[in-house]
Amino acid sequence: MTKKMAGWCGKILEINLGNRKIKTLETKVYASRFLGGRGIATKIYADKIKPSTKAFDPENCLIFMTGPLGATGVQGASRMSVVSKSPMLNPEGFCYGNLGGFFPPFLKKAGWDGLIITGVSDHPCFLKINNDSIEILSADDLWGHGFYRLKKIFENRYGKNNYFLTTGIAGENKCRNATINSNNEGSVTGGFGAVMGSKKLKAIVVNGDSSPQVAYPEKLKKLNQLTIKMSHRGTLRMPVPKQFIKYTGKASCYQCAFDCIRGKFKTSSGQEVIRKCQSLVMYMPWAYTRPNEPADTAVEATYLCNDYSLCSMEVMNILVWLQNCYRSGFLNDDKTGLEIKKIGSYDFISKLLSQIANRQGFGEALAEGLLRVDLFLGKEAKNYFNENMLSVGMTDAYAPRLYNINALLYALEPRQPIAMLHEVSYLIAHWLLNQINPKLSPTSSEIFRKAATLFWGHDKAWDLTSYEGKAMATKKIQDRTYVKDSLVLCDSAWPIMDSFNTSNHVGDPTLESQLFSTVTGLKNNEEELNLYGERIFNLQRSILLKEGWNPKEDDFPAEYNFQKPVTSDLFNPQLIVPGPTEEPVSIKNFFLSKEKFTTMQQEFYQLRGWDPETGLQKKETLEKLDLPELIK
Ligand code: SF4
Repeated sequence: MTKKMAGWCGKILEINLGNRKIKTLETKVYASRFLGGRGIATKIYADKIKPSTKAFDPENCLIFMTGPLGATGVQGASRMSVVSKSPMLNPEGFCYGNLGGFFPPFLKKAGWDGLIITGVSDHPCFLKINNDSIEILSADDLWGHGFYRLKKIFENRYGKNNYFLTTGIAGENKCRNATINSNNEGSVTGGFGAVMGSKKLKAIVVNGDSSPQVAYPEKLKKLNQLTIKMSHRGTLRMPVPKQFIKYTGKASCYQCAFDCIRGKFKTSSGQEVIRKCQSLVMYMPWAYTRPNEPADTAVEATYLCNDYSLCSMEVMNILVWLQNCYRSGFLNDDKTGLEIKKIGSYDFISKLLSQIANRQGFGEALAEGLLRVDLFLGKEAKNYFNENMLSVGMTDAYAPRLYNINALLYALEPRQPIAMLHEVSYLIAHWLLNQINPKLSPTSSEIFRKAATLFWGHDKAWDLTSYEGKAMATKKIQDRTYVKDSLVLCDSAWPIMDSFNTSNHVGDPTLESQLFSTVTGLKNNEEELNLYGERIFNLQRSILLKEGWNPKEDDFPAEYNFQKPVTSDLFNPQLIVPGPTEEPVSIKNFFLSKEKFTTMQQEFYQLRGWDPETGLQKKETLEKLDLPELIK
């Protein structure tokens, strides 16, 4: 790494809220091996947080890291990684999340690549960062406010062009499922809102007026034109009932011109909201099937989650679990103080969320997170979980029994690895559209094959009925995703594996390295860049192992994938996948073979240079990856 730091700002801010000490760290100390974003945040976590540190201990750090491409004009580069000891995991452990919008690029525009928060304030406080001016201010008058009230206060105080992160009442009350929310309605899970609350940190407000240097600005302009063209997908949107909620336009993050499902929506009563993915559909299955329920209820349910800062993925799992408990007779209205027959109504969701966020009544148990509900209700409570409920943010989305290529991706992460799953699912979604009607998408079986071979590194990776090539595909997807999360690029946009607008319709896996070299001036090809991903993946593996991860038990996806055949899927109702020929293959009733998975797992260990029997990292592998500090 040269001394010239085009791309990076060059410094990281460290604030101890306990003794009010403010330090500056040099980014280049970390960037030469870990790039930025998730990579640097993971390294800081490894250096600063002991396995014995608890999530709410003053020594736990909340680490926010942007990457070298943020705020440079690169498209889809407005994100930031958040890493900390997660109170939502059971047991507590290393976890990561990701959040976009405006806060991350404006942290860079203020001159900071990242922010480390440690210690505990003796009273509620918030941070105000304006370029080099760093203030720790009293939040006595802000404590107790929900997200939307706080947003109004900050807009009145500082104007609309200031950007903030906050946590609502759930975070203040250390609910283990509390989120951190950004001013334009992005959020990060992992229970990091509770860590913020434990530090008595209500918000971080940022503004700045510089921009990171770009080594080759003209070349970047051309690359941006190319990537915008390649990624243009026209009218593809989330499938929402149009009579209830209408798409009214983009809700883009800073400097992003990509087509994106992040959008503005208008409800039937005229309410305007910003929604993306799961947060849009969270309460729909219940609200839209309840007779006479106003259509706005589904939208307002997410509004309440945002206002309290409760994770909408966890809330959806809680709703499913509650229903299962009631159906079996394990819980009733008396035990919960909730009227289950009203599920789907506004009254039901507002009472449930208020109970959790305020830790009232039955909400006290749920505020400890669904993964700990047995501590209050006994072991039987876990019998009514969704089968996938093993970790943070888990759902059945893109499950391994449906797409076997996802099996190892799920198996090796401490949370739902959504950024990796998107690499697979977006390509499959475009192929599924082509199967319905080639006019909807050019991604035919032939294009799928070409793209999968190119990006996943094996000439059989595209056949999702076979286990061949899936260990290599896993490694490729992991390395690329760790780079993506470190640069920091958005997983709604990257990688560009296929294109609706080029003559051969196949994407380009070298775009990220071209962008990196253009912005930073450092020459790196695709292979060299992905080596950073391999290093960061191994660093995370070593943290997990130190914190008690046991490969013999933990390197597996949820057990139901090996036992229960797939019978339905919301996004793939026909249950078809690309197979050995041009024709789609039905995978109805498919499930994973434990034996074949284990063979694939050993092949993967070998590709990683790990011991094929134990899954532990070998000394020579760590040496090769320039990770001497991990060698015992
Ligand atoms: S693709 Fe969408 S979510 Fe990603 S940076 Fe662009 S606007 Fe934001």
